[in-house]
Amino acid sequence: MHDFKEKLVLITGGSRGIGKAIAESFAESGATVIVTYKNAIDEEYFNSKNIKHYKCDVADEKSVQEMVDAIVKEHTKIDVLVNNAGITKDGLLMRMSVEDWEAVIDTNLKGVFNMTKAVTRGMMSKRYGKVVNITSISGVMGNPGQTNYSASKAGVIGFTKAAARELAARNININAIAPGFIETEMTDKLTDEVKQSYLNSIPMKRFGSGSDIANVVKFLASDDAGYITGQTIIADGGIVMS
Ligand code: NAP
Repeated sequence: MHDFKEKLVLITGGSRGIGKAIAESFAESGATVIVTYKNAIDEEYFNSKNIKHYKCDVADEKSVQEMVDAIVKEHTKIDVLVNNAGITKDGLLMRMSVEDWEAVIDTNLKGVFNMTKAVTRGMMSKRYGKVVNITSISGVMGNPGQTNYSASKAGVIGFTKAAARELAARNININAIAPGFIETEMTDKLTDEVKQSYLNSIPMKRFGSGSDIANVVKFLASDDAGYITGQTIIADGGIVMS
């Protein structure tokens, strides 16, 4: 098991779903963990796990900078950033409104830019940092009804490569994980018929769990992955194979 004692881990969108599983897993490994959320959080639960929380919209550059400044003021550093916050607003291209296009790009792609820019400034001066971006196989293979989401997630993969090249010499590793179908509130919205058709396409014949993704995040955030940067690891039960 990777040891994250003395490490400060910041996870966006950690109030539920995959982000919550990642936060719990890092907390179990001894890290100081901070999660962000946009709307609401079960404060009692997170306080009981000793996980701090900030309300901050990742799409809002000013709020992101203020939050990062406050965290660095209190804790002096951020060792690991997990850009996990994300939304879907699905619809066929011909019916997709520009509002739904922009909402998804703003949260999923601009949010990653805002957070990474604000956090890696401090990592550069410390000459240490790990950034893990949660993208999606939808950004690798495309998904009908998700032109906004696929574009945002493909954008995250390109962003990961460019930022990794810029920051590698400062000992900052930036990688991405592309999950397949993970059981969370995001996927609960799909009809049983759609869920069954996804299941049929998964060679492992099961949906993923938050901990399936948390395990990969922790590997990429550990020093065992010190020579890996700019990569996207697909964790999808075998749907995409290249
Ligand atoms: P989820 O259950 O819907 O949770 C999304 C989280 O993101 C929540 O904590 C939410 O906060 C937060 N969030 C949303 N918009 C935000 C914003 N503008 N600023 C800050 N936080 C915001 O989603 P999930 O299924 O766990 O997905 C997590 C990540 O994995 C996303 O990036 C998603 O695209 C990716 N992913 C998921 C799957 C899957 O099958 N579930 C597959 C591939 C990739 P509130 O609770 O306050 O709204």
